[in-house]
Amino acid sequence: MSFKGIPVSSGVCRGKILVLDRKGPVVRKRELAESEVSEEVNRLEKALVQTRHQLLEVQRKVSAGMGASEGSIFDAHLLVLEDRTLLDEVLRMIQGEKTNAEHAFHVVAERYATTLAATQDEYLRERAPDMRDVAARVLNNLLGFQDEVDLRHLKEPCIIISHDLTPSNTAQMDRHHVLGFATEVGSKTSHTAIMARHLRIPAVVGLKGASGLESGQYALLDGFNGVIIVNPTDQTLFEYGQLLRKQVTLQEKLRDILLKPAVTLDGHRVFLSANIEQEGDVEQVKANGAEGVGLFRSEYLFINRDHPPSEEQQFQSYRQTAAALKPLPVVIRTLDLGGDKFLAHRQMPAEMNPFLGWRAIRFCLQERDLFREQLRAILRASTEGNIKMMYPMVSGLDELNQANALVEEYKAELQRENIPFDVHIEVGAMIETPSAALVADSLAKRLKFFSIGTNDLIQYSLAVDRLNEKIAHLYEPTHPAIVRLIKMTVDAAHRHKIWVSVCGEMAGDPILAPLLIGLGVDELSVAPSLVPPVKFIIRRLKVNEARELAEFALNCESASEILTRCQDLARQIVPSLFEEK
Ligand code: PEP
Ligand code: MG
Repeated sequence: MSFKGIPVSSGVCRGKILVLDRKGPVVRKRELAESEVSEEVNRLEKALVQTRHQLLEVQRKVSAGMGASEGSIFDAHLLVLEDRTLLDEVLRMIQGEKTNAEHAFHVVAERYATTLAATQDEYLRERAPDMRDVAARVLNNLLGFQDEVDLRHLKEPCIIISHDLTPSNTAQMDRHHVLGFATEVGSKTSHTAIMARHLRIPAVVGLKGASGLESGQYALLDGFNGVIIVNPTDQTLFEYGQLLRKQVTLQEKLRDILLKPAVTLDGHRVFLSANIEQEGDVEQVKANGAEGVGLFRSEYLFINRDHPPSEEQQFQSYRQTAAALKPLPVVIRTLDLGGDKFLAHRQMPAEMNPFLGWRAIRFCLQERDLFREQLRAILRASTEGNIKMMYPMVSGLDELNQANALVEEYKAELQRENIPFDVHIEVGAMIETPSAALVADSLAKRLKFFSIGTNDLIQYSLAVDRLNEKIAHLYEPTHPAIVRLIKMTVDAAHRHKIWVSVCGEMAGDPILAPLLIGLGVDELSVAPSLVPPVKFIIRRLKVNEARELAEFALNCESASEILTRCQDLARQIVPSLFEEK
């Protein structure tokens, strides 16, 4: 039995499957016979008691680990279970309408949550998520589902199958126990996929037919081709053995060029750096021979923790990263929250279109205290190494001017406090909205560099949600519109004598890197593990071949024709990178 999806993180693993939640509980309505009513009320009462025990246990653990005030958060959850008005309404529905307990509880709790979410009173509004949280626990108990599995502490190594995994779930994975994972939703540039590549966990997203997989089955997950094979035959295992042997040979070739520069056969130098998520990733940057950090996704310092990091904690993290890589540059991207990245310690309002909503620089320009702490921490750390900073998701000049004005304000503040910082710190912006690419000339005048975030640029330009597997086929990095927007951005940068990098996943794809180089991009910033293969292709490329490829792409009307041309060139110059099964 095999299941197909989208390959997002290479590697092959074998092991037992562990299926996490499918789409969350499906609540069906069922009519009760008169004789079933009292049993149904009993079931509800049992589920309420069970939920209460679970909540008390969570509260006890949280209080012991983090303190009583954190534990008291669960008081509000416990109160929901004692809300007589709500419970009476559920009972009336079970008894009066003769409907099953799950359905009655779901309907009533959801009605309460919706009403709470719509009130003006902030305190009451904040009770809506509590209500939904408790309701989900009660429903899980009624339906006999297990509690959420803690990915940090799995009992044995396994392949995780889940409907979805958030980037923060993924960041918490224990690499020794999560052999690989597959999700039903997602695409190549979702942050979950990016995190998997970062952790070097083989992964498949957009898995079709996942409901046919059961916990305990033995399977092979192929992250190169996006396949899961249940009970693989000896022949299949043999073929995969060969594939892995080829990979070992390739890795040896890549090790040979580790310390060599990313320079084409005809002497064109490309700056090749790495994307990181935390200061601990510095080792990987060095081990893979990157020339610094082109994108430090600073938001990962904020997620998966109970309080936002203080200015001091951020300062230490940025300082250590810069000091460890000195004199190589470290580009810190200011907070890019929202979209698919959220804070554990802070309830963000639900949005209809989170990627178009309160995200990144928009969020920071309104959350001034948070932004101030981060900017001060970056400025302070800038004396310790070669730090640069950039703003995410700039959509126009006003945002850039506002952010730049704040940087100046905090520089003046630090000066008054006699706190040192690099007065010449370079500030850049990500070009990841079509509007930014279209006004790149105006932005370039006020910045020292651009970093093109193709992951978002593609989703926003082509109106294709980067997380949605149903439209993943429309997410085309070689779409003529994307090629032209990149070219416009590069030209605007060079007109104003600033450098331009690409830090989206496109840069780390050895098939597409030559196109970017041909379009004139100065730097590629890629996942640490992708530095060697991208360098490998650069060192086998002639810049004229890359420029011809770009010229072709700029005059071509078809995304698939451009892609084919990119593939042909890559396979011609580095066939060994593409020897697949
Ligand atoms: C991008 O959008 O290309 C990018 C690098 O930022 P992120 O993937 O974190 O949104
Ligand atoms: Mg982005």
